[in-house]
Amino acid sequence: VSDALSRAQGLEQVGAKVAHELKNPLTGVKALVQLGLRSPAEAASHERLEVVDREVTRMQEIIQNYLSFNRPLQSVNPRQVALGPLVSDTLLVLSARADEARVRLYARGDASLEADPRRLKEALLNLVANAIEATPAGGEVVVEARELSGDDIELVVRDTGRGMPPETLRRIGTPFFTTRDDGTGLGVVLARAVIVQHGGTLRYESEPGSGTKVLVTLPRAAKRSGDVARAAGG
Ligand code: ADP
Repeated sequence: VSDALSRAQGLEQVGAKVAHELKNPLTGVKALVQLGLRSPAEAASHERLEVVDREVTRMQEIIQNYLSFNRPLQSVNPRQVALGPLVSDTLLVLSARADEARVRLYARGDASLEADPRRLKEALLNLVANAIEATPAGGEVVVEARELSGDDIELVVRDTGRGMPPETLRRIGTPFFTTRDDGTGLGVVLARAVIVQHGGTLRYESEPGSGTKVLVTLPRAAKRSGDVARAAGG
């Protein structure tokens, strides 16, 4: 009960933060739209439309993260998933962003497990987006999947980025902890929640200047809550 309670309180805080986060981009977009209503020729400039596009994308990301975070624990819906294709799909989604940052993305290895592919992809998307963000032009991000000898599989996200000092490493994954001006501090929180829901673990290894390694382990066979067992039996 206390777990559910603290989660609900957490969500309330997240909701307030999300509203706050949406205010700035929304104000920017509204200003540009109003300018367009006054003098259409001026507002329709490519540059201005790019700003609108970027701000709308940012709002979409904030809302997407919030919705993912808000989804109840029971909604994990596992089936047999091949990680190789899931990783490739995820990298494809982020390829434009990586190109822009001049960061190369690599998918390596494969492993198969019982998991909710949509949720897993959301988690991975956040981890890889962080890796890209932390990596200077000319660097690379490698995502590697492999089967471990026991009951687990491993997913590693490695970047050649700026790395993290101990105080960041200590606080990473705490709701709202961010070192970025435009960060939400929810990416790692979400990723960890999804991984823990699958019975897995998430761990960071990082030092300033020598990149970051995110190690995710997941059980090959999904942990069965009542909900999950029902879905599997049907
Ligand atoms: P946000 O991306 O909105 O800041 P996250 O929870 O995804 O929120 O990340 C929290 C913080 O952790 C980031 O602001 C950044 O300082 C740090 N971080 C996360 N991933 C990495 C990484 N791969 N390399 C360096 N720092 C990272």
